[in-house]
Amino acid sequence: MRWILLFGALIGVVWGTRTFVGDQVLRVEPCNEEQVDLLKQLEAQETLRLDFWHFPSYPDRPVDVQVPFACLQTVKVFLESHHVKYSVLIEDVQAKVVEETREMERNQRSERSRSSFNFAAYHPLESIYKAMDDIVAQYPQLVSKVQIGESYEKRPLNVLKFSTGGTNRPAIWIDAGIHAREWVTQATALWTANQIACDYGEDPVLTSVLNAMDIFLLPVANPDGYVFSHTNNRMWRKTRSKVAGSSCIGVDPNRNWDAGFGGPGASSNPCSDSYHGPSANSEVEVRSIVDFIKNHGNVKAFISIHSYSQLMMYPYGYKCSNPKDSKELDEVVKAATSALTSLYGTKYKVGPICSVIYQASGGSIDWSYDYGIKYSFAFELRDTGRNGFLLPANQIIPTAEETWLGLKTTMEYVRDHPY
Ligand SMILES: [Zn+2]
Repeated sequence: MRWILLFGALIGVVWGTRTFVGDQVLRVEPCNEEQVDLLKQLEAQETLRLDFWHFPSYPDRPVDVQVPFACLQTVKVFLESHHVKYSVLIEDVQAKVVEETREMERNQRSERSRSSFNFAAYHPLESIYKAMDDIVAQYPQLVSKVQIGESYEKRPLNVLKFSTGGTNRPAIWIDAGIHAREWVTQATALWTANQIACDYGEDPVLTSVLNAMDIFLLPVANPDGYVFSHTNNRMWRKTRSKVAGSSCIGVDPNRNWDAGFGGPGASSNPCSDSYHGPSANSEVEVRSIVDFIKNHGNVKAFISIHSYSQLMMYPYGYKCSNPKDSKELDEVVKAATSALTSLYGTKYKVGPICSVIYQASGGSIDWSYDYGIKYSFAFELRDTGRNGFLLPANQIIPTAEETWLGLKTTMEYVRDHPY
């Protein structure tokens, strides 16, 4: 019997789950435009199966790339022969994935035996959805669940609404996990949901925000991708929609918004991790948020949570000119990140997307800003690359706690600056 189980598990590994044995994440530091172009050439070679954790953009901006074991030699020789500087950020991706899975299984056993939810652990989608229902059940006066749509694979897109009453009050929108593999974001959003529920009536800042405004929080903006990142490929980023005429699956949902759609920093190749999709809003996950925001009509702040890099950004990404409110937005991100840093000293960089990371079109906060939501921001949570998307679970709570200070500062500012 044991052998049958073991054999079954092996088949699962070979046929079901993608493994990353011996894969490394390299930090490449191009020092001029030619070297950036060389990296773009590497990116275009599909046979290398490179996974860019940070896309190549400008000189002096590090590029993190996961290289399959089989291509390591080729890539390293290529970089060295062109005198491109690099270092190894993660020695063996699979070792980190295995450690993360073990930790998750340990936690699941202990949650079952104590029948309680541990916010300091990563969870599969159904546990997150169950925890959201539990928060609603525990705080029915304050929290309700709003289903704003269904994903491509028909999973509900569940938003938690925090409201102390009134009709169509000004609102703050927060989403996380639009990129599936950024697991600390879904976990942070869930911790935040619980924190908002617990803190109302206790924390004067949050209480005053909620007495004037509603908060809408979407912890898992890309549930299909999130499930796939648990079951098949930990490094999955995109949606799971089928693209006509291609065998490759999925669209980058943060290149799919109607903001400079199809422009620089998005790919027209369906096999690329930054594929923008066949048309703006082609992804139902994006379309559902757009429809919700438009129907609501009174959203005053739009905040998207990503990882990793420790950044807080404002528009634009699709172009490199500053938005008309850039001076004010810059003040807000400086205040928010200084509150964030005050807790554990975690350092954040701030600025418009185009100058802080790279030009990237079709992003959510560019759409929301151009739509008229002045306070549009994107966070990139911990870390700066040592663990990247594989941030150990023991950093979830510190990450969520510090982010909460940044969020609260932002919400307080929005409350005090009606428009
Ligand atoms: Zn992201």
